[in-house]
Amino acid sequence: MGVAVGVPTPQELGAAEAEGKTGSLGIALARLEDAVNWGRSNSVWPLLFGLACCAIEQIAAGMPRFDIARFGSEVFRASPRQADLLIVSGRVSNKMAPVIKRIYDQMSYPKWVIAMGDCASCGGPFNNYAIIQGVDKILPVDVYVPGCPPRPEALLFALTQLQKKIRAEEKLGIRE
Ligand code: SF4
Repeated sequence: MGVAVGVPTPQELGAAEAEGKTGSLGIALARLEDAVNWGRSNSVWPLLFGLACCAIEQIAAGMPRFDIARFGSEVFRASPRQADLLIVSGRVSNKMAPVIKRIYDQMSYPKWVIAMGDCASCGGPFNNYAIIQGVDKILPVDVYVPGCPPRPEALLFALTQLQKKIRAEEKLGIRE
């Protein structure tokens, strides 16, 4: 006598129950976008780059007391081609702007930008002809961090906000 296909036998049910008790999930289903975004959000590699006083707080974020490694971002890359996060930590002078733009252009896709501190976000206390009033005049900024300077915890919070944003990306292609 045959057994109906698709109907689990009592033995199979028992085995499934036992498997459940071991914590084994069996099969997990996910959208490709969610899986890729999850991987990307947990391996954001910042560029080894700083502009002014805010960069000291950025450096502190990588030290053991704050430990940016908890978020998978401890690998500060010295080459823009190996980095996907630009943390603009400091004031952006007119003279430096084309250099920053070139560095951003050399970074690999997909890439993100954090404007760290008041100077990078809006010019800060330097309302004069030499300083660009916010790096978003030349680059697309994903997260702004207020403060002069922001504490390392604020940068880590910005990183978690960026991770949330990456996980919610609907398209995997190059951003416009
Ligand atoms: S925001 Fe304050 S600490 Fe940061 S670069 Fe500007 S002046 Fe320096």
